[in-house]
Amino acid sequence: MSDRYASFANTAPGRTLVKRLGLPDPPRLRRYRLGDPLLPGPALLGAAPEGRLAKAVEEILTGAGVEVGPPDAESRQAAEPASGPTDGERSQRPAALIFDASGIADSTGLRALYDFFHPLARSLGPSGRVIVLGTPPEECDSPRAATAQRALEGLTRSIGKEFGRGTTAQLVYVATTADGPAAATLVSLESTLRFLLSGRSAYVSGQVIRIGAGAATAPDDWVRPLSGRVALVTGAARGIGAELAKVLARDGARVIALDIPAAGDELMRVVNSIGGEAVQLDLTAADAPVRLARHVADRHGQLDIVVHNAGITRDKTLGRMDPARWDTVLDVNLSSQERINEVLLDRDLIRAGGRLIGVSSIAGIAGNRGQTNYATSKAGVIGLVQAMAPVLAPREITVNAVAPGFIETRLTARIPVMLREAGRRMNSMAQGGLPVDVAEAIAWFASPASGGITGNVVRVCGQSLLGA
Ligand code: NAD
Repeated sequence: MSDRYASFANTAPGRTLVKRLGLPDPPRLRRYRLGDPLLPGPALLGAAPEGRLAKAVEEILTGAGVEVGPPDAESRQAAEPASGPTDGERSQRPAALIFDASGIADSTGLRALYDFFHPLARSLGPSGRVIVLGTPPEECDSPRAATAQRALEGLTRSIGKEFGRGTTAQLVYVATTADGPAAATLVSLESTLRFLLSGRSAYVSGQVIRIGAGAATAPDDWVRPLSGRVALVTGAARGIGAELAKVLARDGARVIALDIPAAGDELMRVVNSIGGEAVQLDLTAADAPVRLARHVADRHGQLDIVVHNAGITRDKTLGRMDPARWDTVLDVNLSSQERINEVLLDRDLIRAGGRLIGVSSIAGIAGNRGQTNYATSKAGVIGLVQAMAPVLAPREITVNAVAPGFIETRLTARIPVMLREAGRRMNSMAQGGLPVDVAEAIAWFASPASGGITGNVVRVCGQSLLGA
């Protein structure tokens, strides 16, 4: 489904009109294309005193081919003049601002953030990246330190709303010991930085990500991190699932694409385009978990990645909702996932180092009129992530979910026009996301390098105002 307004607003006459009338101004987002460098310009790195991460971050970025520097007079001067930047100025602009706030031990120390970001705030290039690194508040050794670390969230969420032009801003809490972060934590930090700095995270902003010390392996090739992995994607015939199958295959995975028999033709088109395999199965059928388990055991032995993407809506206000609408939505979106997980885990069909990934929704966070059934199921997906992550940690299986906002698919094309237009614009990017945006976030969770990331729910919503 195309966003005609955004296309028009990005033409020369469109830009003029949008500016004159003060209309929403959706920027063209930098999205990942194979062969792209991680960043289109340099990253500026700063740190508060006692920070434990800046050195490691510098090494990671330099190793990934990013030009890293401390903020200097030149980059500060690149701050946008009143008339707007010229092309020459634009190319010198920093593409990312990264600040290690992990050492801030009380609220007065937060001033270091102002000192770093204030002179640079207007210097960032289009689709810029802001990342603040912190210590998880629950790991701080004093209430004052925990208070200061929790305060970081207000800064990053506000920058996401303020900087504009496709800038994203995230807070990444990194677990550390007295000796600094563990080696595995640094691998997961690298995986996360590569995701957040690249165009893969174009529609992810205002998020808080937690990285722990779970086992993580750096891939031989960061361009194909899923090489040799087997991934199951449910609901893969179209929309987000179809795009996800393509992205996981692009990253090197062998993809088992599952959908209902009625979507068989669409499913075959997806599978043929990526050299994957199709499983036609209704997830709600009583024998679905066992049939799926048999397929996995016979063909692959075990799975590395399971993405529960299949989902449906059957909207009605609660007083008018028949029981069938409630039951089918809860069963497809939540209960069938639990049944499948149980059988796959009981039969040891998910390898150590496995990745379980759910697809929630901002409706599961904020609630939505007419969607009590859907929002209940999607909040349940978040509950599943939180409950299962500690249970599966000893097996080195991570459990995470994405929560998409307004994504341009058939599901959202059915929304009445005024509501649809509001959903598209009510976020920091002033536009809907694309299925590939959700797929890229899932691929990041799926990476063998992301083993320290578990129990996270990351919204892919352009920092939607809903449930913010
Ligand atoms: P979609 O309707 O385009 O695709 C969903 C797929 O799931 C379809 O191919 C469908 O056949 C399949 N499916 C449905 N019931 C099934 C069953 N019983 N067994 C097997 N397959 C089944 O939807 P989409 O927009 O691509 O959404 C994908 C996921 O993302 C869903 O879980 C949805 O709730 C979630 N989501 C979407 C948006 C959005 O804006 N599009 C926002 C938030 C969350």
